[in-house]
Amino acid sequence: MNAPLTISKPLDIAAIRQEFPVLNREVKGWPLIYLDNAATSQKPRQVLDALMHYYTNYNANIHRGIHTLAEEATAAFELTRDEVQSFIGAPSREEIIFTRGTTESINLVAYSWGRANIRAGDEIVISTMEHHSNIVPWQILCEEKNAVLKIIPINRNGELLMDEYEKLLGPKTRLVSIVHVSNALGTVNPVKQITALAHALGAVVLVDGAQSAVHLDIDVQDLDCDFFAFSAHKLYGPTGVGVLYGKKQLLEAMPPFLGGGEMIREVSFKKTTFNDLPYKFEAGTPNIGDVIAFRSAIRFMNTTGKEEIRRHEQDLLEYAQSELVKIPGLQIIGKAKEKVSVISFIIDKAHPQDIGILLDNRGIAVRTGHHCAQPLMERFSIPGTARVSFAVYNTRDEIDELVKGLQRVVKILS
Ligand code: PMP
Repeated sequence: MNAPLTISKPLDIAAIRQEFPVLNREVKGWPLIYLDNAATSQKPRQVLDALMHYYTNYNANIHRGIHTLAEEATAAFELTRDEVQSFIGAPSREEIIFTRGTTESINLVAYSWGRANIRAGDEIVISTMEHHSNIVPWQILCEEKNAVLKIIPINRNGELLMDEYEKLLGPKTRLVSIVHVSNALGTVNPVKQITALAHALGAVVLVDGAQSAVHLDIDVQDLDCDFFAFSAHKLYGPTGVGVLYGKKQLLEAMPPFLGGGEMIREVSFKKTTFNDLPYKFEAGTPNIGDVIAFRSAIRFMNTTGKEEIRRHEQDLLEYAQSELVKIPGLQIIGKAKEKVSVISFIIDKAHPQDIGILLDNRGIAVRTGHHCAQPLMERFSIPGTARVSFAVYNTRDEIDELVKGLQRVVKILS
């Protein structure tokens, strides 16, 4: 039987832009064109309102209080956990742990699971295109445990060499920690296939979803990964909130990461027992207001329609790529077949930082530098790139302005 035909209306981008107050501002006398969404996205009014509402009406510490404000804050905080659970298709809410961000989520796994499970001679596999936050925690762990870090190479287009990956896997592989979407190239990695290959050898898989959760539909059960990490601030949500999804069996067997209040059942000087999941991994007062507001960000994405957002961003990506290659001397770094929302580029004779400064003079915000992926830059023998990255509120008109800005850059710098 044929799949049912889904007809979706194009998004009303002008109306969506009205939801983001910051987009009304000017920078250096020019209307803001915000193309640094891979670093952090802007926040819709619903998220700002939710924060304001929390602090105005029911600010209280959660879980322990019996007064009304504490109960309201606890209920709202826990509602976000439910929202995240369904957003990524996790089997249970106990598997959703709130952290400060992707970085902390990965470190939680490295310190808790890693220190309990990695022994001398064990192997951890990552790739050339990892963000520093998915490199350094494993380097620290490997150093401490005398374990070995293995790196999946990539081709000139910025795609993983899957044959090489299979060759790296072996009886000593304990963990594969892989980025879902590269922040510097936009490459979408085949994480389902990567996971299946790792599982066949009994290795555990962590997926760094910092860049994927906002652009792709995430179903952790379909991916079958053991851990999935992402940050709220790249999904139209507040800073200071991250998520670690982990399979229950693994999380239950893992020792606590941070010790303190909330994560205990009972404390005595003789013996302390730990709380159930997910609280065992949520020591101390969490970022209550921002977790609560994160729910509004997910609801914004769900009501706008993730598939519609993806289609719009894909259109922007393709349009921008086709326009940018017309600029003399411009070279796109990262030409993967499977790619979302990010274009990294260099221009002959122009330092990326100068490109960034000249664009900012026209109100255009782009990111320049190594994008916390120095080994990747080394792979391409470049110090850095200029990077544009799209969100739902970006438009083709903005890309036309970017192109004009870059034409001017070329004129000034060559
Ligand atoms: N991984 C990737 C792929 C990222 O893009 C980022 C953020 N740039 C991180 C990890 C770290 O995220 P955070 O800074 O929110 O912890």
